Amino acid sequence: MSASRVDVVIIGGGVAGLWCRWRLASAGYSVALIERSRLGDGQTAASQGILHRGVKYALSAEASRAAATAEASARVWDDAMSGKEGPDLSGVEVVAASMLMWTDAGVISKLTGAIASKVLTSRVVAAERRDIPAFLEIRGRSVYRVDETVINPVSVLRCLADAAAGPIVCEEVRAITPGGASTRVTTGGGEFEAGAVVLCAGAGNELLLELLGKDPAAWTQHRDLHMVVASGAPGKIFGHWVASATDKPRLTITSADVGGLTHWYVGGDLAEQGVARTPEDQIEAAKSELRSCFHSLSLAGWNFRTIRISRAEGKDASGKRPDGPVVRRIDGTGGGTGGGTGAIAVWPTKLVMAPAAADEVLKLVRERIAPTGAIEPEVGRVRRPDYALAPWQSPA
Ligand SMILES: Cc1cc2nc3c(=O)[nH]c(=O)nc-3n(C[C@H](O)[C@H](O)[C@H](O)COP(=O)(O)OP(=O)(O)OC[C@H]3O[C@@H](n4cnc5c(N)ncnc54)[C@H](O)[C@@H]3O)c2cc1C
Repeated sequence: MSASRVDVVIIGGGVAGLWCRWRLASAGYSVALIERSRLGDGQTAASQGILHRGVKYALSAEASRAAATAEASARVWDDAMSGKEGPDLSGVEVVAASMLMWTDAGVISKLTGAIASKVLTSRVVAAERRDIPAFLEIRGRSVYRVDETVINPVSVLRCLADAAAGPIVCEEVRAITPGGASTRVTTGGGEFEAGAVVLCAGAGNELLLELLGKDPAAWTQHRDLHMVVASGAPGKIFGHWVASATDKPRLTITSADVGGLTHWYVGGDLAEQGVARTPEDQIEAAKSELRSCFHSLSLAGWNFRTIRISRAEGKDASGKRPDGPVVRRIDGTGGGTGGGTGAIAVWPTKLVMAPAAADEVLKLVRERIAPTGAIEPEVGRVRRPDYALAPWQSPA
């Protein structure tokens, strides 16, 4: 069987893969994207969809680079969503124009200091009463409105998939075979021959690195979460409860009205600390946290379930949480035509940082190959994968 010759193959169709596809196609490269199951069927569809603008990081020690990257990337999103610049994300569903952040006594000084910092002055203001749902008690608390948009991540995937030409095939990758100037990718449906291969498979990058004969532990790490979907809430809320002096919100809640119910998608410290808990224990912990946060709420009649998910990240020598996207040429061989595996691995670290990751990928691809824009022969076997489901739609 003859291989389809293409400039770049991207493996993995989450936000990183689809944003890279658009970026490379805009620069004249022909791109084929291979997705194993559904587009975004990893972290993207399961994410809370918050376009962080640095507020989250301003409370933490490693604030500055992460805050600056998030802020710069969020501006790219603004331009794309307003149709000013590509990719065309004007069809993205904005589910909340801003987040709330509320504190209990004791952390106000830390927050106030962060808010007074340069990064945040224009981003955080005292919330007005009309911005605050009635079930959030405000007595003794400080409540802020944070300029962070919340989007429906699946709507982003749809827009990105439509923003560029080039095949998106739903196939399983069986082998990646470097061969000097080009790399062969063998799937269940056929073969591609590409000048560069971009690994955007999230947690699936581990398997792809193994296919390249690499030890994944040297390149990637994962931090697990045990998220909670609480269905039956009295109304929507989008916010962070910052109730201790750590850099992490105790709860981060986003919401959706689906199927006649209001669902809260609950993360934050609860999800990080709850990894070792059974689903039953995690649900009890979530109920306890929600009662502590929303004193007057009765949870009677609500349904709860949990979702376990890993955040896949690039790894550096420190093993710490990366403060920006991680994009690495596999093998570390220098630029120029040929040599190395021809593979580049990508971990955006955050949904919001996908544009910065894609810029970095374009730079590395340019160092390796010039665009031809050609796919030969045309890929005749295209079967577009479906889109992943949102957390409240996933089967229990
Ligand atoms: C619970 C949670 C909440 C989050 N909330 C936010 C937030 O509010 N804001 C924010 O900025 N970030 C958030 N993030 C982080 C963000 O979701 C991720 O950084 C981002 O979505 C990663 O995108 P990705 O494309 O690299 O990976 P993924 O979205 O995981 O996509 C990988 C894709 O590759 C496919 N794949 C896997 N293996 C293979 C293979 N062998 N062959 C072909 N395809 C393959 C998968 O099916 C999937 O479609 C959150 C993450 C989690 C887990």
